[in-house]
Amino acid sequence: MSDVLAVTDHRRGDLRDVSYEIITAGRQLADDTGGDLHLAVISGPVDDFAEKLNREGVDAIHTVSHGEEFNHDVYTQTITQLYDELAPQYILTPNSVNGLDYAPAVANELGLPVVTDTIGLSVNGETLTATREMYGGKVETTNELEGDAVVTIRGAEWPTADGTGDAVIEAFDAEIDEDAVGSTVNGFEEVGGGDVDISEADVLVSVGRGIEEEDNLELIHDLADALDATVSSSRPIVDNGWLPKNRQVGQSGKVVTPDVYIAIGISGAVQHVAGMKGSDTIVAINTDPNAPIMDIADYAIHDDLFDVVPALTDQFQ
Ligand SMILES: Cc1cc2nc3c(=O)[nH]c(=O)nc-3n(C[C@H](O)[C@H](O)[C@H](O)COP(=O)(O)OP(=O)(O)OC[C@H]3O[C@@H](n4cnc5c(N)ncnc54)[C@H](O)[C@@H]3O)c2cc1C
Repeated sequence: MSDVLAVTDHRRGDLRDVSYEIITAGRQLADDTGGDLHLAVISGPVDDFAEKLNREGVDAIHTVSHGEEFNHDVYTQTITQLYDELAPQYILTPNSVNGLDYAPAVANELGLPVVTDTIGLSVNGETLTATREMYGGKVETTNELEGDAVVTIRGAEWPTADGTGDAVIEAFDAEIDEDAVGSTVNGFEEVGGGDVDISEADVLVSVGRGIEEEDNLELIHDLADALDATVSSSRPIVDNGWLPKNRQVGQSGKVVTPDVYIAIGISGAVQHVAGMKGSDTIVAINTDPNAPIMDIADYAIHDDLFDVVPALTDQFQ
């Protein structure tokens, strides 16, 4: 019987979805180990967060009120102290910007192995089997770990936990060594804000590296106009400065759930798919029939975008 400690994630006063997903992942693991699921809620309005996170399957919630935002040293110190106190077998963290910041430090501090970006977890005896993707989602690998471990979970892979729980909520008295806290959050600055919120669009015409040159974007805008749709893109288009950051779909961009998502010259890398797989209908236009986007498309057009897009625009006009 071994316990699981899952760490929740928040930003600017809001819990992130992965905080509810990690309850589901943690509960499944705790069922495998026959132990309890503990949640750690660190910084921000912890009492309010704890109330929201008190969902079915959670046995205990430990709150640590220290500052408003994520801080590497505060998280690392708190989690190592919770590990010493609770002796869980597994520490689960989100595979988020924050989680990836402190999880390796916690593992290093505790002398534990760390496995990141997992999409499936199961325990048999003392062996944890963690599933990860490689090569842009073309290959799945299973990793076996013995004994205690730190595990980061990918967002949107486990359903969010619901149902009201009856967890014990208690303040954990973490002893933070303030001298060892080497950074502070001074504020937030939105990058590339703009006129359009792509997460609100019903139809998205999304463009990727297959477009080759900035001037060719005109084809995409023409199709979007004909459909009364909004233009979005994969990351390379934004990295090239061809579209502003607020148009980027994906793990480091926006999560979108339109009725129709038209992916043009986009391969479907896992970081892109993370942002659009909730679309109702996915149309992919790609010259490579083996591109991962073709696997999740409802309609796959295996052809050259420079032929297909003008033809579609003509039709819709
Ligand atoms: C930490 C991290 C975060 C990331 N976050 C994001 C993110 O938020 N969003 C994101 O998109 N990416 C993100 N990425 C990058 C991601 O891994 C991919 O590199 C990126 O999504 C690839 O973009 P793409 O599909 O446009 O380009 P490519 O992978 O180069 O694909 C281009 C596609 O166009 C097709 N093509 C070429 N010519 C034509 C033609 N004439 N007609 C039709 N099809 C054609 C090709 O067959 C290919 O499939 C992230 C990466 C990392 C490491």
